Amino acid sequence: MEEIKNEYYNVADIFGENVFNDATMRERLPKKTYQKLKETIREGRELDLETADVVAHEMKEWAIEKGATHYTHWFQPLTGVTAEKHDSFITAPMSNGKVLMSFSGKELIKGEPDASSFPSGGLRATFEARGYTAWDCTSPAFVRQDAAGATLCIPTAFCSFTGEALDQKTPLLRSMEAINKQSLRLVRLFGNTTSHRVTPSVGVEQEYFIIDRKNFLARKDLVYTGRTLIGAMPPKGQEMDDHYFGAIRERIAAFMRDVNTELWKLGVSAKTQHNEVAPAQHELAPIYAEANVAVDHNQLIMETLKKVAYRHGLQCLLHEKPFKGVNGSGKHDNWSLVTDDGINLLEPGNTPHDNIQFLLVLACILRAVDDHADLLRESAADVGNDHRLGGDEAPPSVISVYLGEQLQDVLNQLISTGEATHSIKGQKLDTGVKTLPDFLKDATDRNRTSPFAFTGNKFEFRMVGSEDSVGEPNIVLNTIVAEAFSDACDELEKAEDFDSAVHDLIKKLLNEHQRIVFNGNGYSPEWAAEAEKRGLANITNMVDAIPALTTEKSVALFEKFNVFSRTELESRAEIEYEIYSKKLNIEAKTMIDIVRKLIIPATIRYTTALATSINQVKAACDADVSTQTEMLLEVSDLLSETRIQLAKLEDAQKEGATMENGAERAKFYRDHVATAMADLRKPVDSLEMLVDKEMWPMPSYGDMIFEV
Ligand code: ADP
Ligand code: MG
Repeated sequence: MEEIKNEYYNVADIFGENVFNDATMRERLPKKTYQKLKETIREGRELDLETADVVAHEMKEWAIEKGATHYTHWFQPLTGVTAEKHDSFITAPMSNGKVLMSFSGKELIKGEPDASSFPSGGLRATFEARGYTAWDCTSPAFVRQDAAGATLCIPTAFCSFTGEALDQKTPLLRSMEAINKQSLRLVRLFGNTTSHRVTPSVGVEQEYFIIDRKNFLARKDLVYTGRTLIGAMPPKGQEMDDHYFGAIRERIAAFMRDVNTELWKLGVSAKTQHNEVAPAQHELAPIYAEANVAVDHNQLIMETLKKVAYRHGLQCLLHEKPFKGVNGSGKHDNWSLVTDDGINLLEPGNTPHDNIQFLLVLACILRAVDDHADLLRESAADVGNDHRLGGDEAPPSVISVYLGEQLQDVLNQLISTGEATHSIKGQKLDTGVKTLPDFLKDATDRNRTSPFAFTGNKFEFRMVGSEDSVGEPNIVLNTIVAEAFSDACDELEKAEDFDSAVHDLIKKLLNEHQRIVFNGNGYSPEWAAEAEKRGLANITNMVDAIPALTTEKSVALFEKFNVFSRTELESRAEIEYEIYSKKLNIEAKTMIDIVRKLIIPATIRYTTALATSINQVKAACDADVSTQTEMLLEVSDLLSETRIQLAKLEDAQKEGATMENGAERAKFYRDHVATAMADLRKPVDSLEMLVDKEMWPMPSYGDMIFEV
């Protein structure tokens, strides 16, 4: 057990101390350079080399003061985690044998990692293996201090030599441009002349498990795949609901304290922390930030959770479903649109005038989600999430929107009579034809079963998996809403009578897309049936979700807003199929290894011990050995069943491994390999309940989730 150190500090003193943030830049950069950089950031232009040189120099000096020896372009390839290549600041030794520390503008704004081993889905022909990274100056550089020393990290986008996106950040930045442009058009229609930029604000809640590291290391399935492939349920699970929001244990509290300190230094505003539903499960949420910064910060949060856990002799599990039968982990992606002068377009507002703009925004979002539910679903698809969605612990795999009672009532009135004349809370409202009601922010109701819920002044997309990047969900959200705004603006900009045109458009959109709204219990079987009646797609697994990326509808959407080209989409689909097959292949091989080398030998030892004991008892006296004999028979039956199922899994795995990458291979893994794994798990889990615990070769679920 770690010793608990109690050093107290003032958060304000350390917050952002390792970030080359606005305050630091203002302080350290020459005024002209600072202004130039800010201008570039504001206008989304490319930084000129002269300015970059000055910024790089100051950044290096600052980083060296923090102990940095290396710098790295920190980027997010399509593997789901971040990547980096470290270079030290030193230059070739001078004639006196000393070195200088240097960092040029060119090194700051552009890097050329050998990119051939990152997934590219065929975008980068191997003879042109070079990719390049480019500084995203809208996300500040930071110094990370850890066992590797201190490193200056520069958040970058990662592209192929011909400019195709090989990462999450590039399309995210493109989608932010699209939503900015279309949102500005929309607010201008309502007379706003003061806002100059609209940015998606994103707040990501992160769930995770913490277990003891020695238990983790004793479970090869966790080590290789991030989840347990076998394991019987302990006598006690989460049924008592005594963990949710329960008092945080000392050891975990000490861990969280260090996580917060690290994150605060990195300028990540870690805000809330609590226990989650499952034993050993927790959540951390920062305060929301601009989408690209929030996505970077979520990566930092995941990295920090893992690193700090390691230092505490703990292991952080980010997998969506580390333990079967125990609630899995997700990520809530809270999303809204905010202008540079602080207006949230998703804030219902207090005057009918604001309400009209809000209702138009809302109607457009309903349209976007209804038209592109398949893309949203795809954006939350990853291998681990297949074990979680639809399992009464996470949203179902059908996309729908939750609005809450009051908002729903207003929509109902608009749809049925064309006017909304009253509000459910009973206030008097203007009844003029073009007037819409003034309704209150619906803060009371919390429907936790909805995948896409309106929560007062933001939408909360709750389908994302805990291990996945939130890049893609936000790319999709930004782009589909940009399209809906763009079409609405096309129509309204040429309307002669704006008031009646906007009224009619809202009504039309609500009418056409009301099927996507569902306020009831998303876990109920009735909803599955009702959703089917409404024609809403129920995509239950990743392999079935991937094709959404390359439909003609998606290609047209993403190309129109310059977020993805057709080639980029096709390569992404290819990568996803490949990742699916590869991960399942590793899972299958790990399971084969564990069952063959650990489970079967342990069971044989146990049956041998039983048989020996039976013989010895019989030789000694005439005692009843029926219990031992029954046990021996039962265990032996399960052992032979295990062997049969193991052989089937081995065959399936071998066949899958030889197939060519693509949709067919992924389907084969889903339909044959995953099922063979489930079939093998059954007898093994039964054996775990029978074999002497002393002889069982790895920690049980109970050991892992209750002993932290
Ligand atoms: P919950 O009740 O689901 O735990 P919270 O109200 O604690 O939700 O907020 C969750 C996340 O949503 C936090 O990261 C928070 O900063 C973020 N958030 C709050 N308001 C907004 C907003 N307007 N836009 C985007 N994210 C927001
Ligand atoms: Mg939430």
